Order: sequence, then structure tokens, then C-alpha cells
Amino acid sequence: MEFRGKTVIVTGAGKGIGREIVRMLAERGGHVVALTRSAADVEALRGEFGCRAIQVDLADADATREAVIAALPADFLINCAGTTELQPFLETTVEAFDRLVAVNTRAPMIVAQEYARSLIKQGRKGAIVNVSSVASFVGIPDHAAYCASKGGLDGLTRVMAKELAPHGIRANGVHPTVTLTPMAVKAWSDPEKAAGMMKRIPVGRFAEPADIAEVVLFLLSDQAAMVNGISMPVDGGYMIA
Ligand code: NDP
Repeated sequence: MEFRGKTVIVTGAGKGIGREIVRMLAERGGHVVALTRSAADVEALRGEFGCRAIQVDLADADATREAVIAALPADFLINCAGTTELQPFLETTVEAFDRLVAVNTRAPMIVAQEYARSLIKQGRKGAIVNVSSVASFVGIPDHAAYCASKGGLDGLTRVMAKELAPHGIRANGVHPTVTLTPMAVKAWSDPEKAAGMMKRIPVGRFAEPADIAEVVLFLLSDQAAMVNGISMPVDGGYMIA
């Protein structure tokens, strides 16, 4: 898949899956505009990949809108940023719930609104990939707010797919299983919990960031021109187990 000359906005580009997506896009000739939080990651992305990088806290709705407007115009959008906090359902706090929904659900909506408005205004086509999770399909203990936020994101993806396709903009969701990134360290460091999850993955391993990035880039590309509104698990068969 070639992205030569194409500009791609990638949120959450500083670490994990987002960073791998940036690496692949740079290798395939794409120009990345990275939106991410940590100043050190912004500097590293500029230095390593020569990409534009904008520092923003996606939990802040106004700052998010300002950042994406500064990132435009772009050919493609990947909403990859995400965050989690482990709390049993009965102890899930309103603050944590709101934080997760702000970053995992509201920010992708704001970013996609500005991206799509810009394309429609210019009469150009495009594609959006929202990085969701298998957690939007199943109930994972201690992940109530996370599961809810990703379920909300899936709802947005489907509405975007219907409303934006007439403008030539496709939208799809990618749903990773446990992927070996800093987030997985946070969520799956308990060996007993990790072993239980691994047992349900028929291919017998957790995902690498590159496993997810390849699928994301496929869904953006013209090879997927007829794919719109899907929720694509990248889970080694977890969902059928
Ligand atoms: P990481 O925690 O490794 O990286 C997440 C990236 O998003 C970081 O660069 C982080 O920046 C950025 N980010 C998080 N919150 C904000 C914020 N408020 N503002 C701006 N940037 C932010 O996560 P992964 O790479 O593992 O996850 C990527 C996506 O994949 C997420 O949407 C996640 O939910 C999803 N996913 C991950 C799975 C996994 O097992 N890893 C499984 C299923 C889905 P900073 O570090 O500076 O905060």
C-alpha cells in the first residue's frame, strides 16, 4: 500500500500502535501530522520521522478542535489515541468515566468533524479509521468506562459511515485484542489475568503494533474502496473462541 504524497492525521502517535502507524506511513511515502500529548513524544516524532507533530490534550474539546484545524488539510484520518483506567464497575468514578469518554469517544468525533468538513468544502474524497477495541464487543472486568467509551466510538463510526459516504468519505473501525504497547502494560500486567485472555486467543499470542497498523492502513487505502462502516477485529480469533 502506497501513501506517497498523501497527508495523514494520526492521533495518539507518540507511543504504541499510533507510533507504529507513523513509522509505516513514513516508510510508504506518507506525510504524517501527529496529534499527541507528551512533549517528549512530539520532539521524538519530529526528529525520527520528520513529521509535523502538534501537542494537544485530547481530553480538552476546544484544544482538540484547534489542533485538528491546525493539522488540516489532510487526505486521511486515523483516530488512534486512547486511554484506560482500571476500576471495577461498582467503583467506577464519574471523573474516570468522563475522562475516558472525552478521550476515546468525544475527541474522535471532533477530529473527524473538522477533517470531514474540510474535505467536503474542497470536494475531495477521504477515509477515516477509528481504533476501537474488542472491549466494545465483550464485557471485560474492570473496564466498564473503557468498554462504554469504545462502544460509543463504534456508534459514531457507523453514523459517520452512513452520513459521510455520499461525500466520498469512508469510515471504519479496527478492534485490536491485547497489543504489546504501554497501554497493555497498564491493563494486562497481572499474569493471571493475561494468561486467561491469552487462552481465548486461538493463534496463541497477543498482537504486535504492526499487526494492527497493517489493517488500519489497508482500510484507509483504495484497495478497501468498497469497505465502509465495518468493525474489523484484529484479535487472532478471540471473538470466535
Ligand atoms: P498507548 O498507551 O501505548 O499509546 C496511546 C497514545 O495515545 C499515546 O501516544 C498517548 O500519549 C496518546 N494519548 C492518550 N491520551 C491522550 C490525550 N488525552 N491526548 C493526546 N494524546 C493522548 O496505547 P496503544 O497504542 O496500546 O493504544 C492505541 C489505541 O488502541 C487506543 O485507542 C486503545 O484504546 C486501542 N487498543 C489498545 C489495545 C492494547 O492492548 N494495547 C487493545 C485494544 C485497543 P501520552 O502517552 O502522551 O498520554
